[in-house]
Amino acid sequence: MGRRQLWRKVSSIPMITYFKPAGIRMPELDEVRLLVEEAEAIRLKDLEGLEQEECSQKMNISRSTFSRILDSARQKIADALLNGKAIRIEGGNFEMAVRRFRCLEGHEWEVPFEIMISAPPELCPRCKTPSIMPLLPPGMGWGMGGWKRRHRGGRG
Ligand SMILES: [Zn+2]
Repeated sequence: MGRRQLWRKVSSIPMITYFKPAGIRMPELDEVRLLVEEAEAIRLKDLEGLEQEECSQKMNISRSTFSRILDSARQKIADALLNGKAIRIEGGNFEMAVRRFRCLEGHEWEVPFEIMISAPPELCPRCKTPSIMPLLPPGMGWGMGGWKRRHRGGRG
């Protein structure tokens, strides 16, 4: 069936998601966009000092994919440091190891990675409302536009 492991498992998102070199005005500033899974690769390999095998297992990807993500992350960080560019951490194909959701009625629950990638929740498990949204870690600005309604349909 071809490509399966599209989602990289990420257990931590950095609190600070923007770095800017001192003394450069914004209009002259170049920016490097570091994907969240690239930040996670750096965290596991370089900060926690794990072996590549362990890192790739934690992220639910193959060793070659992990190594490609790590190379890309290091290249971007080197580019930013040595060429005086800002770094913005955002986006990518990742899913949190555990994601918290909240419904319109205020119920909260957690959905593990394995469930998120196979069957993300559409209803609150307690009151069955479809008005649910993920609770995002601080610093991540996605999905802040209010309640996202999800309707079943299309697939029969
Ligand atoms: Zn509910």
